[in-house]
Order: sequence, then C-alpha cells, then structure tokens
Amino acid sequence: MAKVTIDRLSKQFGSSVAVADFSLEIEDGELVAFLGPSGCGKTTTLRMIAGFIEPTAGTIHIGDEDVTRMPVHKRNTGMVFQRYALFPHMTVSENVMFGLEMHKIPVAERDKRVREALDMVRMMQYRDRYPRQLSGGQQQRVAIARALVIQPRVFLLDEPLSNLDAKLRLDVREEIRALQRDLGLTTIFVTHDQEEALAIADRMAIMYDGKVQQIGTPDALYERPDNIFVADFLGKMNFFDGSVREPGRFTTASSQQIVVPAAGAATRKIGVRPERVRLEGEPQGPNALAGVVDSAVYLGSILDVRIKLDTGESVSSQLSNASGHLRAYAPGTRVHACFQPEDCVVFSE
Ligand code: ATP
Repeated sequence: MAKVTIDRLSKQFGSSVAVADFSLEIEDGELVAFLGPSGCGKTTTLRMIAGFIEPTAGTIHIGDEDVTRMPVHKRNTGMVFQRYALFPHMTVSENVMFGLEMHKIPVAERDKRVREALDMVRMMQYRDRYPRQLSGGQQQRVAIARALVIQPRVFLLDEPLSNLDAKLRLDVREEIRALQRDLGLTTIFVTHDQEEALAIADRMAIMYDGKVQQIGTPDALYERPDNIFVADFLGKMNFFDGSVREPGRFTTASSQQIVVPAAGAATRKIGVRPERVRLEGEPQGPNALAGVVDSAVYLGSILDVRIKLDTGESVSSQLSNASGHLRAYAPGTRVHACFQPEDCVVFSE
C-alpha cells in the first residue's frame, strides 16, 4: 500500500468547475471518506485518482510516483463502483480472475489469488455462480474481491453501499472496514451519507460545490466544524444570528444574551447541537433560554423536542432515553433550554 498525495487538483468541464484546488495527503493504510451532497465533485475527484478523468490542473502522487498522466491500468488502483459492474456472462471466479488477466499476473498464481480474494469476502462457495444468481450484497462482495485480487496500491470505493438495503449496508460497511484494517489498505471511500462516513473513516473531507470545506477526523469535524455548511451537513445544529459586543457574550438578533467561549468581533453566528441542550423547569447555568414546548417526537432512543423561545426563535433539544424514564413534554409546557458555553460553536462568517 502507499500514501496518496493530491496537490491543487482541479477539473473543469467546459466552463463549469467540478473540482477546485483540492489538496490532501492520505497516509499509508488510512481510510479517508469524501463526503458531500450530490454534485459536489466527489466522484470526479475519485475518478481523477483512478485515472478515468484527466485533471485540468494539479498533481496526484501514489507513493513517490507522479501518476497524474498515467493510464488507468498502470496506476494499480482497485475500484469498486456503486453498481456492482460485474460481467453478467462470467461466473464469480471468472469475474475475479479477469483483473488478474488484465494485470498479466502469471497463470500459475492466478487460481490461488482468486481463492484468497473470494475467501476474504466469504464468497468461495459461490464461485461457480453467475452474478444474476447472487443478492446485491453478494455481488458487491465479489466486486470487492475483484478490486483487491490485484493487490492494489490504493483501494477506491464510489458509493459502494448505496444499492444495498439498510441492514446489508451496515454488514458490508463493517466488512469493508475490517478488510481495510487487516490488509492495511490505503482507501478512499466516496459517500453522501453522513453516518456512513462518520462510522467508517479515519478522516473525512467534506466537499461542497467543488471545494473542500474541511478535512479532519469524524469527531473533530462534528465537534469543531469550521463553517455553517459543515456544521449543518454533519448532523443537526441550532443556529443563532447576532454579534459579540463584549468578550465571551453573544447577543442574538432578538437581544438574547448567550455566554460563549472566546469569540472574536467577527462572530456573526453561533450554534449548539440539540443533544447538548437540556430542558429544565427552572433556569440552570449560564445559558437558560425560556420558552414553551412546541412539539415532542418520541424516537425510541431519544426524544426530539422543539421549543419556541419567548424571543421567537426555535430550539431543538434531543434528550437521551438512557434511563428509560424520559418524561413526556406536552406542547405548551414551560421550560428552559440550558446549555454550557463550551457547547457553543462560534462562526465568523
Ligand atoms: P453524486 O453524489 O451525485 O454522484 P458527486 O459529488 O460525485 O455527485 P460529481 O459527479 O463529481 O459529483 O460532479 C461534480 C460536478 O461536475 C457536477 O456539477 C456535475 O454535473 C459535473 N460533471 C461531472 N461529470 C461531468 C461531465 N462529464 N461533463 C460535464 N459536467 C460533469
């Protein structure tokens, strides 16, 4: 496996910019997820790394080798697509064997390599079946075996789970992560599913409109998002508009005072995650915003409560059902939405 270095990579299709100035170093054995909404440039970036699309500018190195203009088959990357892309007229074994033929692996070695790859994804017993005789999850496992049988330097996955139902998505996701760790595969995993990226990635690159918004570990991005897009895209957040008139105090547009951690004069917005907002009858702590319950939705593990503040804003609170004694909140109940200063995220845009 090898490190991947992407330096100022850009792609334009005519006058439209699909990817702008993308830089990232992926460490040997690391799994990085590219996450973003539809059309943000994830697939285009992945395809430039695989060699299917030629960049407009920038460079890609695998290990020390500049592969920016190298043909696909010489890059030695293994790719798995959203649709399984298996050959329908070939058996499972023949599909996996195909990659070895393309890479001119010695004939004597091929059977052993196919067996090892099918064993890895627990598909050996299906080796003589045709793709149409397999479930979606099984087909995707064969596609993974076909990508890995060539022992690629980099493993590339483009929304590999999006055609699977919810339960299988979890199973195959865990299998991919386990294989990736066991084999120490340098991996890029494209997805538009936040939870999937949080669950699988060592680091994630959040993309929007062709640009990388932020790169970091899942918890860093969730706890300390750089901007509103990242904060809002990764889970829910309550936002307040306003300004900082004295250090450590944020004044909302409706003149509510909120105690925040160090915030510069450029601060225009703050946010707090719903699971950090507690509901109390009496005000508690430095931030206790008075209001009434607007709605409360029971979701099993959590209660999702919406509060209409006396100042007019709405705030969401997610209360954990950890104790099994979640009390009901009837609409109209008077409450205080309480949260700690350190739970506020400060934005300066
Ligand atoms: P999705 O999750 O929907 O697959 P994505 O984040 O992978 O989206 P890309 O497929 O990389 O996005 O597309 C990025 C932008 O580039 C989009 O605006 C898309 O319309 C445009 N684009 C992609 N391929 C081409 C092409 N061959 N010609 C012109 N425009 C393209």
